[in-house]
Amino acid sequence: MDPMKITTVMTTATMEENSAVPHLEKAASTACIMATNFLAPVKTDKQIYENSMLEDDPNANSVVTTTSSEYKTVPRWGPNHKGAQELANLYSTGKRTQECICVGICITLMAVNSVFIIIRLRLENLSSIVIAALCGIVTADFISGLVHWAADTWGSIELPILGKNFLRPFREHHIDPTSITRHDFIETNGDNFMVTIPALCKLTWDFLTLPESEIQRKFLWSCYWWQLAIFVAMTNQIHKWSHTYFGLPRWVVWLQEYRIILPRRHHRVHHVAPHETYFCITTGWLNWPLEKLKFWYILETLIELGTGYKPRADDLKWAQKRS
Ligand SMILES: [Zn+2]
Ligand SMILES: [Zn+2]
Repeated sequence: MDPMKITTVMTTATMEENSAVPHLEKAASTACIMATNFLAPVKTDKQIYENSMLEDDPNANSVVTTTSSEYKTVPRWGPNHKGAQELANLYSTGKRTQECICVGICITLMAVNSVFIIIRLRLENLSSIVIAALCGIVTADFISGLVHWAADTWGSIELPILGKNFLRPFREHHIDPTSITRHDFIETNGDNFMVTIPALCKLTWDFLTLPESEIQRKFLWSCYWWQLAIFVAMTNQIHKWSHTYFGLPRWVVWLQEYRIILPRRHHRVHHVAPHETYFCITTGWLNWPLEKLKFWYILETLIELGTGYKPRADDLKWAQKRS
């Protein structure tokens, strides 16, 4: 071969290689940036530190340093926040009575349905039952997120019936997150127990009235609804544990550490003002994927476009009632 031709071929190949290298480098660097953004924490330690209450530090050794004297006299969070005190005082006797009745009915129905289901459990259908139960738990996590998001984001305390009875605890919880740890079993669980009652009534009715063949045919669905009801009912107790940094039973800490129920550090992400993400509070399994899909943001944007209402307007109003 002509030496000149060989040189030309080599030069062309080298030029092509050289022009391909920057493209490859650019693609690799874009992929790196995308991966870094994708895997970045939803809230950084700095954001958590500066924009949420330091509820795991009772001695305030890590209190946020600030030059503002206003911060020291009018607390941004906690039981001395004026808005939190006003909201706590709106807890009425009527509301307490409703919670007591709901807890009683729910526990009775739960016990009856548990007996109906446990006596029908068979080893041969155990794997399908476990899958049905897992689906129930995931659904409960999603429902906890949807209800929590709706209550945090929309409506106001001024709404008749709904406001003072059902939205009040959500507003209070953002400005005094540890108040939940001072609530007793009834106040913590009353509303969640209430929402499971219709499904538990239907399950009981089916077990009592349907022929055994029909009960067997629908058995996996029954297991699904049973687990869904249990986890929906347990959600606010699990949520309370996620705010309890001292004196938790070891088995609860174990469940949190293995992410079977909502872990404490995980839930701190929701409590970073303005409380716009990580709404799922049963297991918290769906928080990360929903955040990456921008699920809540898209939903809020569509509602704001359709109605003109600003998300979290009432929540912000209460947060600002500091004095
Ligand atoms: Zn919230
Ligand atoms: Zn919380």
